[in-house]
Amino acid sequence: MKNATTMLMENGIKPSYQRIRILEYLMSHRTHPTVAEVYNGLIDEIPTLSKTTVYNTLKLLIEHQIVNEILIEEKEVLYDVAEEDHGHFKCVSCGDLIDFNLNEAPPAVPTGFVVQSVHVYYKGLCNKCSGKQHKE
Ligand SMILES: [Zn+2]
Ligand SMILES: [Zn+2]
Repeated sequence: MKNATTMLMENGIKPSYQRIRILEYLMSHRTHPTVAEVYNGLIDEIPTLSKTTVYNTLKLLIEHQIVNEILIEEKEVLYDVAEEDHGHFKCVSCGDLIDFNLNEAPPAVPTGFVVQSVHVYYKGLCNKCSGKQHKE
């Protein structure tokens, strides 16, 4: 994977220190953090950082398809580096959000439509939780 500075520059985004660190945070924390988690993870290092800056930077990165927003939680938006298209499985029992590979191409869109991002969300029981249920 390219480094954060290169990714920003290739997308015509000025690679300010805060933008670089926010993108690096997402690249090194593949845990689908919220705005608050990104902010809390960086505030010690960047005392001048504001939640608005984190939010606006993530918005900018989404516009350039460097970052995906995940809208699987009712209350919070989660963020993920758009390294490769992958699906998300939300376990309604343990609350885990699990990445899985998309092996099959998504359903085709009508002629003339251009897909810019693919979001595949499932909700259900992960293998641990469905296994537990099976034994009971
Ligand atoms: Zn589970
Ligand atoms: Zn993910």
